[in-house]
Amino acid sequence: MPSLKQLSINLATLREQWDLRQAVEGCARHGIRAVAPWRDQIAKVGLTESACVLRDNGMRVTGLCRGGMFPAPTEAGRQAALDDNRRALEEAVALGAECLVLVVGGLPGDSRDIAGARRMVEDGIGKLLEAARPAGMPLAIEPLHPMYAADRACVNTLRQALDLCDRLGEGAGVAVDVYHLWWDPELEAQIARAGEGGRLLAYHICDWLVPTRDLLLDRGMMGDGVIELPRIRGWMERAGYGGLHEVEIFSAEDWWMRDPEEVLQTCIARHGSAT
Ligand code: ZN
Repeated sequence: MPSLKQLSINLATLREQWDLRQAVEGCARHGIRAVAPWRDQIAKVGLTESACVLRDNGMRVTGLCRGGMFPAPTEAGRQAALDDNRRALEEAVALGAECLVLVVGGLPGDSRDIAGARRMVEDGIGKLLEAARPAGMPLAIEPLHPMYAADRACVNTLRQALDLCDRLGEGAGVAVDVYHLWWDPELEAQIARAGEGGRLLAYHICDWLVPTRDLLLDRGMMGDGVIELPRIRGWMERAGYGGLHEVEIFSAEDWWMRDPEEVLQTCIARHGSAT
């Protein structure tokens, strides 16, 4: 059984109810010792203030969400994306985050060239690594479900992300998010491969509802859907993953509408019973 010590809350889970300070203090009240904030949440409160709030509450930061979105139709656009990623990297360092999560981006502009988009992603991460390595900040490439290939991420399987890591070298790893990867028949083998290469940087959990009414904003609470969470956790553990289990739920019509205290209580209970 997973323990409370292994639980982290991705603050997207509470984004409609609470700002960063409220969310961190709420998690602390419930005995949760780790969170993963989003950059817009940090920006609203301010970087220095956010770092204080996290430190004062003794929070581990299991990741900063997010960098990425590398492809752009023009050289200037790609440079702007890289500059923004360098700022994200600095923020991750200032917050003491364990990694910077990358949602790599989809097709630029009106392009139909997905292979070209993937080259832009590889080039962008390669350049970002030149700053990330000396800063000691791992970059966690998060493969997204292929339904997002056009508009959010053209890296869509763990195998593809790990192939990218192999080419990029030191400092690149992966975030395994069950919402995006649960269906993949290669998942067990690719998690093992990631473990061998020391590439497992983060583990994001929620559940896949049937039916899923909105492909972005209808993620389920652990135990309410069809993902075999204990089995996937077992694969992660066998691969040597010793990090936390980060609950990340985007849920416009359900969990974002509920009392945040109830959301946290449910996260804790389900983390213990259903993951
Ligand atoms: Zn995720």
